[in-house]
Amino acid sequence: MVDCIFCKLISGELPSYKIFEDDKYLVILDRFPTVKGMTLVISKNHLSSYFAEVEDEILSEMMALSKKIAKQLDSKLEGVLRTMLEVEGLDVDHLHFKLLPAYENEKIDHLKRLELSDDEMEEIRKEIVGESRALV
Ligand SMILES: [Zn+2]
Repeated sequence: MVDCIFCKLISGELPSYKIFEDDKYLVILDRFPTVKGMTLVISKNHLSSYFAEVEDEILSEMMALSKKIAKQLDSKLEGVLRTMLEVEGLDVDHLHFKLLPAYENEKIDHLKRLELSDDEMEEIRKEIVGESRALV
């Protein structure tokens, strides 16, 4: 899809902060996160963003991958109690799950967007994956 921002992130036409990638899924940091370390699990196929229209096999693969990434966020980011999973898909019409780390003493404000520099984004990425380009 020509005008889909997620397809452009997948093709590399737009840069992203990669956490994980395989042949079917891309996991990146949200560039304008609600909370530090907010992460997107994206299907590489341009599928409906409404999960109820997507086949079970893809949903279960994405859930298993999200679980793995959530544990990584929990263990690597300081002060995370657990990681929440959101699937709304109203912003970009391309299947994706949102992972939101829940921090101690911090209420999530869904309207808030953190303004982070490229350096700050890369620092957060490294906190999660270490020095490697992405988790495998
Ligand atoms: Zn797309």
